[in-house]
Amino acid sequence: MTRIFLPPEQLTSDTITITGENARHLALVLRIQPGEQIIIFDGQGFRYQCIVEAVHKKEIAAKIISKAPYSVESPISITLAQGLPKADKMDFIVQKATEFGVRRIVPLVTERSQVRHTHKRERWRKIARSASEQSGRDRVPDIEHPVELKEYLEQTITALAKGYIEDIKGVRLDPEACIILSEGSRERHLKDVLRDFTREHHFTVLVGPEGGFAGEEIHAAVEKGFIEVSLGPRILRTETAPLAALSIIQYELGDMG
Ligand code: SAM
Repeated sequence: MTRIFLPPEQLTSDTITITGENARHLALVLRIQPGEQIIIFDGQGFRYQCIVEAVHKKEIAAKIISKAPYSVESPISITLAQGLPKADKMDFIVQKATEFGVRRIVPLVTERSQVRHTHKRERWRKIARSASEQSGRDRVPDIEHPVELKEYLEQTITALAKGYIEDIKGVRLDPEACIILSEGSRERHLKDVLRDFTREHHFTVLVGPEGGFAGEEIHAAVEKGFIEVSLGPRILRTETAPLAALSIIQYELGDMG
C-alpha cells in the first residue's frame, strides 16, 4: 500500500487535503484513484489508514479511517558520520543507511575528502524521506550539514563530557559507543567490540572517504574516546563499509536477523 509522510498538524481532522509534491506523486506517478487506501505516517509514531475521496493534479482529498501507534524503528540509535565521497555515492549511502534504520547522518569533511563543499543536504533529506517511506519507517533520519571532522570530534566530546546525548525523541542515551572504522586496524573487530555495549548505548560510526582517514585523524579520534575497529581483512569501498557496519550492529544488538 502507498505510504507517505505528513506532519501531525495536517492530520487534525477526519478529512485531510494532501498538496505539493506528495499530491503530484500520488496523482501523476502512482495514478491513485478515489476509493483506494493509503497509509500516512506522522513522523511521531502514528500511522493513519486513509481512503482517497477525490484526486486532482495538485490536491488530493482523503478521509482518515483509523489511527494507531506504530513503529518499525530499530531499538538502537545509530549516527552514521560518513566521510564525503565523490559524485553521487552519498545519495546511495543515505538511501541504504536509512533502510538500515539509522537515526542521524553526518556528512564529514576530512583531510582526504575530494569533495569539500556541497549544497546537497536538501537532496539527501528528500532521499532519506523517500527511503523511509519505501521501507515503511515511521521516522525520517536527520541529515546534518556537512561538518569538518575536527569540529565533529569536538561536538562529540562535549556530549561525552556532559555525560549523555539526546536522541530525536529527547531520550538521554549513553554516548560511549563511538566507533571509527579503520582498514588498518587488525586488532579489534567490530563484532568483538560490540560485546562491551548494549542497545541502550547510542552508536556513532565514523567512516572514511575514498582515500580513507589520515593517520592523525584516527589518532585524534582515538584520543577523544573513539574505538578503532576493523571489518575484516578486505578493504571495502567507502560506500560498502557503512552498510557492512550497520548490518553487523543491527544483527548483533538490533532487530535484524
Ligand atoms: N585508505 C584506503 C585506500 O585508499 O587504499 C581505503 C579506504 S576505504 C575505501 C574507505 C573507508 O572505509 C575507510 O576509511 C574505513 O573507514 C572503511 N573501511 C574499508 N574497509 C574497511 C575494513 N576492512 N575495516 C574497517 N574499515 C574499513
